[in-house]
Amino acid sequence: MERLIARSIFSPATGFLRRSGYDWTCNPYVGCTFACTYCYAMFLPQNRRPKEEWGRWLIAKTNAVALAQRFAPKLAGQALYLASVTDPYLPAERSLHLTRGILETLVPYQPRLTVQTRSPLVTRDLDLLQQFRHVGVNLSITTDCEEIRRCFEPKAPPLADRWQAAITLRSAGIPVILCITPTLPLRQPAEFARRVAEFRPDVVVVQEFEEAHGCFGADTGPQARQLLQRFDWSSADYLRFRDLLRQSLPVYEGEAGFFPPGSPPAQVPSVSPVAARRHPLTLLS
Ligand code: SF4
Repeated sequence: MERLIARSIFSPATGFLRRSGYDWTCNPYVGCTFACTYCYAMFLPQNRRPKEEWGRWLIAKTNAVALAQRFAPKLAGQALYLASVTDPYLPAERSLHLTRGILETLVPYQPRLTVQTRSPLVTRDLDLLQQFRHVGVNLSITTDCEEIRRCFEPKAPPLADRWQAAITLRSAGIPVILCITPTLPLRQPAEFARRVAEFRPDVVVVQEFEEAHGCFGADTGPQARQLLQRFDWSSADYLRFRDLLRQSLPVYEGEAGFFPPGSPPAQVPSVSPVAARRHPLTLLS
């Protein structure tokens, strides 16, 4: 891991995050050691290393907390997405405490905070997350099968640990936005849909795994495309799962599901009247 004295950790939100109502993004690290094969961040211009090396390098912005202290007053009431091109709870965060230090710094200024992660380490910071009036954790649980998870997300935390983190967050009163994005191949779609519905996330988002041409979502790299063929997962399979889930829950699709806490989404997804009575949609607030 390399260390960097950075000029900034905050950037004005762009692209789908801007369209979704976010004002700022925050990235305490450059690169990401979770090494997801479909990660759109590896295609971004700031990541100048060869795409083949994605997941094998990490740069920590060691002055991140000092930068946060300087910038935090500007974030009062603003919609902040932490983090857009890395995971804020990588293994390195366990000892570096950069994300934790940023959260500590931000509490007095109360931005409307979204934490995007697939790491159970987020539960370490429950004490801080509970101090934000408008907060949500976007937790990525992308499949129901460890073998598939290991193929697409080789160094990311196991699925069981993520489900446990979801339960812990929920028990602590932190809204959980379940991001099945991209929706990876599923072994037992009906069983997975049932599990998601029973958990009743505050919001659930699905996203077809496809070539995104640099736009929102998982821009399927060649390695991930090969994996998709191996698991024989098609658009029809994705649509069947989405519609199955919609029988029990309101389901957002793609960028429509990414909106800041405290802001209503542009469109509430349709759900059958029967399902709506069973699972009334809870917007973050
Ligand atoms: S955790 Fe997120 S940022 Fe990291 S490799 Fe996976 S998709 Fe990319």
